[in-house]
Amino acid sequence: MKTISILGSTGSIGTQALEVCEEHDIKVKALAAHSNAALLAEQAKKFGAEYVCIFDESKLDRLKTLLADSKVTFLTGMEGLKTIASLDGVDIMLNSVVGMVGLVPTLTAIEHGTDIALANKETLVAGGKLVINAAKEKGVMIYPVDSEHSAIFQSMQGNSMNRVKGIILTASGGPFFGRTLDDLRNVTVEQALNHPNWSMGNKITIDSATLMNKGLEFIEAMWLFDLSPEQIEIVVHRESVIHSAVEYEDNSVIAQLGVPDMKIPIQYALLYPNRVHCDVRKLSLTDYGKLTFAKPDYETFKCLTACIKAVTAGGILPAAVNGANEAAVAAFLQGRISFTGIGDLVTEVLENTENKEIKTVDDILEADRAARAYVENKIEEGQY
Ligand code: NDP
Ligand code: MG
Repeated sequence: MKTISILGSTGSIGTQALEVCEEHDIKVKALAAHSNAALLAEQAKKFGAEYVCIFDESKLDRLKTLLADSKVTFLTGMEGLKTIASLDGVDIMLNSVVGMVGLVPTLTAIEHGTDIALANKETLVAGGKLVINAAKEKGVMIYPVDSEHSAIFQSMQGNSMNRVKGIILTASGGPFFGRTLDDLRNVTVEQALNHPNWSMGNKITIDSATLMNKGLEFIEAMWLFDLSPEQIEIVVHRESVIHSAVEYEDNSVIAQLGVPDMKIPIQYALLYPNRVHCDVRKLSLTDYGKLTFAKPDYETFKCLTACIKAVTAGGILPAAVNGANEAAVAAFLQGRISFTGIGDLVTEVLENTENKEIKTVDDILEADRAARAYVENKIEEGQY
């Protein structure tokens, strides 16, 4: 029986992961959320968690009241997340928090030698080399949860990594595929949150609408699979059936297919290398009839272009671009900027950040902070 800890257990990925735990008898040792005390308490009771962390300290009393008759250990804030990331007796930690806040817990788990199932893509985008090198040094496995990266990982099983020519990273194209920049100026929050194929948390849903998500995934793939930018081809595939593919030296392409349901990649990451029953719909290719493929529109979807430029330049730029995006998406969701403002702000931060090498985690955190400050200042000036 495996033992797991989950950071971000109340989110879209976290709740689906708990379903996998229930279906496959995975023992849950610790759970963490930001502020949803009610759901966190319910999960802790149901799964008999020994540790719970509520990041937002103001919700701690409520959590304690809800769990008054249990022996659980209560934690809060970043220290709480780090405590969970360094618990003994955990086979795998699922990091499914949203945003850069996941970086330090990921590094802590690696330092402790705990394998990680990684949904929190911002961690690899910002932390890149530091995270991967630390994992290599400690012999820690990072199992991808993101569906595309899971597909690539699955398509690499049994094949020699040094025969990989490149990968095909598929993209649904989001709700605004085929639109022009002009069409997108007046997009509402509601329209942007309406993803055609996937049901996900708000931040990643907006990232999917701007194609920032594909840019983040491009960077994530480079680090996870040791690829150069030239080895990655992004293909818009509206049906989200082919979740990505690997091209080998002999020009064979091996892909992973399935209905768009995160349960499959979550379960694969948690139960690797086992393939067992998964409670999702069976794929019927004849129901789909045809699958379509197109090139992405790099001019309209500026965030995608910014990510590729940032990772090609390297250094702190991916962290800066990610920080800018997190701040801009939050502002868009609060109705403070327009939809196209997100791409404009991300591009501006890319163009105005003085690049430098990442030597320590502080370099990453500082790049993130500076990018957010830049975005906030620009929003105050009111042009977006
Ligand atoms: P959600 O917004 O649905 O959930 C986020 C989770 O993180 C919640 O449990 C939230 O707690 C928790 N959280 C946020 N901040 C903190 C914090 N500071 N400390 C502890 N917990 C925190 O996001 P998703 O599940 O959609 O996405 C999570 C990650 O997975 C993202 O990085 C996303 O890009 C990635 N991902 C998601 C996919 C999906 O299908 N949803 C697919 C592929 C990748 P609370 O509920 O209290 O706010
Ligand atoms: Mg994905």
